[in-house]
Amino acid sequence: MDYKWLALCRPGFENELSAEAKELGATTEYTQGSGYVLFELSSKGFTPKPWRLLELKDFIFARQLFMVAARLDLNNEADPIAAIVSKVRQVVKNHHTIKALEAIVAETPDTENMRSVLSEAQLVAQQIADRLGRFGVRFIPGRGAPRLHLFFENDAQAIIGLSSPQLSSPWPMGAARIKLPSEAPSRSARKLEEALSLFISPDEIYTRLKPGMKAVDLGAAPGGWSWTLANRGLVVTAVDNGKLTPEALKTGLVTHLEVDGFTYRPEKRVDWMVCDIVAGGPRVAKLVANWIRRGMCGETIFNLKLGSPAGRLAEVRRAQTLLLKTAKEASVHISLV
Ligand code: SAM
Repeated sequence: MDYKWLALCRPGFENELSAEAKELGATTEYTQGSGYVLFELSSKGFTPKPWRLLELKDFIFARQLFMVAARLDLNNEADPIAAIVSKVRQVVKNHHTIKALEAIVAETPDTENMRSVLSEAQLVAQQIADRLGRFGVRFIPGRGAPRLHLFFENDAQAIIGLSSPQLSSPWPMGAARIKLPSEAPSRSARKLEEALSLFISPDEIYTRLKPGMKAVDLGAAPGGWSWTLANRGLVVTAVDNGKLTPEALKTGLVTHLEVDGFTYRPEKRVDWMVCDIVAGGPRVAKLVANWIRRGMCGETIFNLKLGSPAGRLAEVRRAQTLLLKTAKEASVHISLV
């Protein structure tokens, strides 16, 4: 069976996303700068819930992923909402395993010119959910039902998609909705919060980030990431020659060391090492590999700053290969997410 998929990305990263899909054996179609890639992938035999065949974590450059269930041209529709409702009902009927939907999310490419379409699409999605309810389509959050995606390529072309909430992004368009308290030392704090919620399931977050755990934050100034970890009760060594804000130090759990993050080593293994040093990706990958080789941390989240657009995917793959090889040589088990 062939299945069509749609993956959303940051506009400008379609090439990388398309290359990732091709690595999985897909044929792809996309337009530069569009913010999404459509691809077709064959699967062996019949599968009752095909939207579970792929997951967002299979991709590095995708923000959101769903299986395309139908495409609609609304240009000649007198009542576009009725047309969408009718198509969704058909989709639900065609997939016998669908007993209910988890939710309906409105999405568009993340481009400037689609902002107004998105706000309209959000209103439309609500009306569609109401009308579907009247036709007996139930919405039951949190029970493994598929999520319905209503994606507008433009103001007249819509795609109806299905995803498993566990295997796709919890946020519409994959854009994290993380509100930071005003005392956060930097907007970077949101970056770490987003990574934590993406990489660690809600069931595990309180055991993998526990009060009293030790963390090292490399490239810590002005202190957003240290502040985030300290707010969860971790004891943080913040390494940076730059200054930390008073807010970052206020918890009493953050110790600032004005030393070089590339040569700093903790006296004892720590639970977490996070790194946001502003330096080239390959250098940071080597630094992380060194921490793995020496078994200096249990878990790590790091920011890999990518270089020229032409080599971005290759750069990520080189970093992945280095980290896996290093772990194997050091007999350390790692899982990359
Ligand atoms: N994560 C931080 C936060 O939440 O506030 C922001 C980090 S900022 C993007 C990058 C930091 O890397 C800068 O503060 C810079 O001083 C630091 N940096 C650059 N080279 C470094 C090095 N060799 N060792 C430690 N820090 C370094």
